[in-house]
Amino acid sequence: MKARVDKNVCIGTANCVAIAPEVFQLDNHGLSEVVDPNAGTDDLLREAAEECPVQAIILEDDSGKQIYP
Ligand code: SF4
Repeated sequence: MKARVDKNVCIGTANCVAIAPEVFQLDNHGLSEVVDPNAGTDDLLREAAEECPVQAIILEDDSGKQIYP
């Protein structure tokens, strides 16, 4: 599973950073970005995505198919 952040949707609440700081960090504009796509387990990525209040975290399976949201 792979996570990416839609910065057009992110509002910078940092929930994802609190849950998986090795994967997500806020950039200079206070928006989340993926710093290490291989750092988190699938469970952690899913938890981070589900805790994002605006569903800015997109999860894809290994073939690139979107599986969340
Ligand atoms: S939880 Fe969602 S809105 Fe908050 S910083 Fe992460 S991606 Fe952005």
